[in-house]
Amino acid sequence: MAKKPKRKKIKPNRKPKTVRDRSWKKEILRGDIEDDPLFEFSTERVVPKGREEERVNLWTKLEREVRQAPDTRADGSPVSSDWKEGVVVRVSTSTYDVDLGEQTVLCGVRGSLSATQTGYTNVVAVGDRVLVSLGQADHGIIEKVLPRRSLLARPDVLNPDLGQVVVSNVDQMLIVAAWEEPRIWFELIDRYLIAAAQGRMKPLVCLNKIDLAEDPADYHTEMSPYQDLGYTVLFTSALTGEGIAELRTHLAGEATVVTGRSGVGKSSLLMAVEPELDLRVEEVSYYSGEGKHTTAQVSLLKLTGGGYVVDTPGIRELGLITVHRHELVLYFPEITALAGACRFGDCSHTHEPGCAVVKAVEEGKIPWSRYASYQTIYESLPEYYTE
Ligand code: GDP
Ligand code: ZN
Repeated sequence: MAKKPKRKKIKPNRKPKTVRDRSWKKEILRGDIEDDPLFEFSTERVVPKGREEERVNLWTKLEREVRQAPDTRADGSPVSSDWKEGVVVRVSTSTYDVDLGEQTVLCGVRGSLSATQTGYTNVVAVGDRVLVSLGQADHGIIEKVLPRRSLLARPDVLNPDLGQVVVSNVDQMLIVAAWEEPRIWFELIDRYLIAAAQGRMKPLVCLNKIDLAEDPADYHTEMSPYQDLGYTVLFTSALTGEGIAELRTHLAGEATVVTGRSGVGKSSLLMAVEPELDLRVEEVSYYSGEGKHTTAQVSLLKLTGGGYVVDTPGIRELGLITVHRHELVLYFPEITALAGACRFGDCSHTHEPGCAVVKAVEEGKIPWSRYASYQTIYESLPEYYTE
């Protein structure tokens, strides 16, 4: 059985308290978060004083959508009206399967579409909506990648200044954790929540293996900080079937990426939701502009209730987030809400005297697990993140 993750200690006497005063939450949430938990804390929110100019726009990378396709060709001819719109369902070394509705065509990419201007090492990813010109023998050329409404990227292994788009245009992220075997790892949940917010995906937190709990009150208590923050939390057991119908409802009609560490029951859950599901995993490579190839496995699984599920180890292992240290707080609304009360305007809430956040943790007003995540993630981030 996996051990509990090691938690950062603040001071030995700072123990989590069980008594909670929830009155502060009303102020923070002001009802807004219920409607839109993802964007509540976007750019205009509290930033440590004096750091404004240092701030990197959280969404810069997202906004750099692949728009470099010109309206005219290199030879001056206008873009053709016979381009067809489709969705990239599979990516291999330098070819792409594009689902055009009535048919799926194998496509290449117009040479002028280059990765380097986009901030990403791959031009086209699974999930992209693209415009395709059809040539002979049912071969197509991807002429243009349409703006992405969401994306999940990770830093490129060889070129960390650039990101690699793992999948785009996904609606939501199902973050799976297990009550036991392996035990919930809150920090990973919190990292996925950040990734979901960065990628503009709605997060769904799913606690699986609840059949292993002695008392449901235990897991309800442990997961309550997420519910208090407005996140949807599902409680499931792929073994007993509990909560599966509700999970199915949440997946229907949506494009969902499934994340969570190995063994938490992601495959079991998907098979419980969709007993007919073909869980084959395809080996694919992402083509990068520099000629590098990174192998990943991506599968798009169509659900009978509509929508589909994207499952890839590339996403599962995504513990990596590209956040500047002082921006981290933006993803912890309960900390952001108190930052103004700290003695120092640029308080990092990790070690400073007069920190209102540490005080709130001591008083049990901020859940210990969330604060521990904040600290651990903070320390894992580079002090200056250069884009
Ligand atoms: P994945 O690596 O996240 O895809 O996890 P799997 O679906 O392969 O499941 C890992 C193990 O956990 C398997 O032995 C499953 O039978 C078991 N498992 C999955 N879901 C549950 C559950 O709800 N309860 C219990 N007790 N075991 C489960
Ligand atoms: Zn502070």
